[in-house]
Amino acid sequence: MKTALRIGFASVFASILAAGAACAAEPAIPEIAAKTFKVGDLELVSLHDTQFVMPNDAKVFGLDAGVDAVTTVLKDAGAPTDKITLSVDALLVKDGGRLILIDTGVGPKGGKLIESLKYAGVTPDQITDVLISHGHGDHIGGLINADGTPAFKNAKVRMTAAEWEAIKAGGRADAIVAAIIPQVETFAPGAQISPSVKAVEVKGHTPGHSAYEITSGKDSLLAIGDSAHSSIISLAKPEWFIQFDGDKPTARDSRKELLSSLAKSGQLVFSPHFPYPGVGTIKVKGEGFVWEPALKP
Ligand SMILES: [Zn+2]
Repeated sequence: MKTALRIGFASVFASILAAGAACAAEPAIPEIAAKTFKVGDLELVSLHDTQFVMPNDAKVFGLDAGVDAVTTVLKDAGAPTDKITLSVDALLVKDGGRLILIDTGVGPKGGKLIESLKYAGVTPDQITDVLISHGHGDHIGGLINADGTPAFKNAKVRMTAAEWEAIKAGGRADAIVAAIIPQVETFAPGAQISPSVKAVEVKGHTPGHSAYEITSGKDSLLAIGDSAHSSIISLAKPEWFIQFDGDKPTARDSRKELLSSLAKSGQLVFSPHFPYPGVGTIKVKGEGFVWEPALKP
């Protein structure tokens, strides 16, 4: 990972469209949103899909710590203590002639990714590569349309071989698997995907979970996938188990290691589940870490 990081704020420009009522969850984000920013010479766009709101019941976060401990962490961060909100977002990378989409949101049942993409001036047919971080529904749901046809019909769909095997074996995404088989090209962990995009293995969440590093000149960004889920809890208490993690001890160790490395390097991060647009840096705070957004919604 690069240590010299900066984001050209002069070249950061944003476009947000308020379409209909904003989500009821805090913070209020338009349902359709596309935020453009630069990493070096590359143009990237954070695309909003939906939001998850879950009760603070220690069933997902704080499995091994309990509701009271989670409440304390939320309170210390000035966040509501009765619920935990996760954004669901995807990242578009304009890499020369290629239009690379990292993850695809929840899909036709409630996801607004396609609308956000169109708001950014890009049609689904223009996407040349879809990079999948892992095979959970909030990342691969958008690979198909409501009628079951591929949502990005001209794109290669790329993921690690281990993740593709896990998706096929899981049996929960049979319609998606059937639709995208001709598009899928797998790669080994750490593969160079395009001139500017490289896969980065982060173990534990799923069998073939991958982050993606986007580099232009001296600047870079790491799209961390589901290495961490809550910008508050996963950073303050990276050692706590998360229900979504398939191999919880490995995911915990990966998370702690990755957050330490990101805090040290100051590398710019994109997280699909941190507050939209999910672009910022990780700082050390006490025994844990804290999220510092680099861009406003
Ligand atoms: Zn996820």
